[in-house]
Amino acid sequence: MDYLQLINQNYTLPEKYRPTKLLLEPISNIWLEENTLLMFYKMNKSMQNEGLTALRLYSGYRSYACQNSLYLKTCRDAELKFLTTMPEIIQAGKSEHQLGTAIDVMTTIMSQRNSNIYEFDITFHKKWLDYNCKNFGFILRYPKDKEDITNISYRPYHYRYVGINHAIKMYNFNLCLEEYIPIYKSKRY
Ligand SMILES: [Zn+2]
Repeated sequence: MDYLQLINQNYTLPEKYRPTKLLLEPISNIWLEENTLLMFYKMNKSMQNEGLTALRLYSGYRSYACQNSLYLKTCRDAELKFLTTMPEIIQAGKSEHQLGTAIDVMTTIMSQRNSNIYEFDITFHKKWLDYNCKNFGFILRYPKDKEDITNISYRPYHYRYVGINHAIKMYNFNLCLEEYIPIYKSKRY
């Protein structure tokens, strides 16, 4: 598994791509790539040890077919101008959810209240993740200050597992994945 694999508008996944090792998270009934789930568990436990309530998975692995049906639904909703209430959905093949290494998260309370996922931005959990997620190998994949590079609007709830070493370097140099990969490949730093 290449944890640095870049998926975006330019680098897409084939319809048949499926991660080799997927594990089921039983509370949310969501599948994730093996290490991504193990590190999510560790991160969640560490967060709770510091007094916060449990993070809940809102989304994880999505097959091409699933992503496609979500996308088509969004397109229909957009026509009906209902789009503002739901997260924007990326076209199938261009979503890193198909890798099984991306997670959308919310707090337990948010999931009980059926809150809009963007409310995650103003939680203590988000503040905790801002500083600590790198230590578990996760990055905030679509930061506010990188919208012009990722071409994706700020998503406070979407994290991507890249491994601890990469996540710490990206944090220290304030690089998003699109910026980090070419530098890493050319310099191997
Ligand atoms: Zn997501």
